[in-house]
Amino acid sequence: MPDKYSAIWVSHSSMGDFLKCPRLYYLHNVYKDPTTKRKINIVSPALSLGITVHQVLEGLGDFPAEERMKRDLLSDFEKAWENVAGEKGGFQSDEEEKEYKERGVAMLTNVQHDPRFLVNKRIKLPRGEMNPNFYLSEEDNIILNGQVDWLEYLPDDTLHIVDFKTGKNEETDGSLQLPIYLLLCNALQKRKVSRASYWYLEADKLVEKELPDLETAHRDVLEVALRVKEAREKGEYPCSKGELGCFGCRPFEMIVSKDSKAKYLGVGGFNQDMYMIKNSVD
Ligand code: SF4
Repeated sequence: MPDKYSAIWVSHSSMGDFLKCPRLYYLHNVYKDPTTKRKINIVSPALSLGITVHQVLEGLGDFPAEERMKRDLLSDFEKAWENVAGEKGGFQSDEEEKEYKERGVAMLTNVQHDPRFLVNKRIKLPRGEMNPNFYLSEEDNIILNGQVDWLEYLPDDTLHIVDFKTGKNEETDGSLQLPIYLLLCNALQKRKVSRASYWYLEADKLVEKELPDLETAHRDVLEVALRVKEAREKGEYPCSKGELGCFGCRPFEMIVSKDSKAKYLGVGGFNQDMYMIKNSVD
């Protein structure tokens, strides 16, 4: 029987870090502060906006389909925003916070005007205390985990994967996100997935994507997961840009080196030490 506690856990976010750069993966997913023994993470305005809008929309799934749009989404957003207001959310100033908050209000106003499939039946993937997960490879002791934003139940008894996008940039075609969601849905419930879409909330644009076949999805995701496993086993996380460097890891390096611009905010939801990077020192 494989041991889930000794397994390598991979997700869209951690593999995304690894593909950007192994050292970035290390700093964000492996490194622990030697004093607190906790992993480190950074709050940012974009992340805070994303978390809050997702919280409001995914929260709708707890209500029966016919009641969802009777809710006041802006009031739910206002409440959720309290958790990210000010420095807790990585905002450098009141103006910056106002700008991001207004973007969230605009997104949810779009949803209220046209909720699309949010008023249809949905299903949820089974989960316990952890995100939905399954063995991507028992032989290699690798577990894939992730949370699909919304799974619409279609009248032909198939499913539609929907991913809410709060950023301005469109997802690139090589992204592992849809292959990962497809694998999670296939492993954790019985219905077939027939559609997948990204919903860009600010532009209120729905972009339907072609789904990979299961075999290709499994092969592509496992290929990256095995590279992650190998790096962890060897303890080798090289900087992929060499002497040229880049800005990718700089905020994390600032935390590790105790730079005074890295401000400690407290312990976050996943028992991580949370920081913000200040533009200037007070
Ligand atoms: S400088 Fe860039 S490439 Fe090098 S470790 Fe940092 S994130 Fe990676």
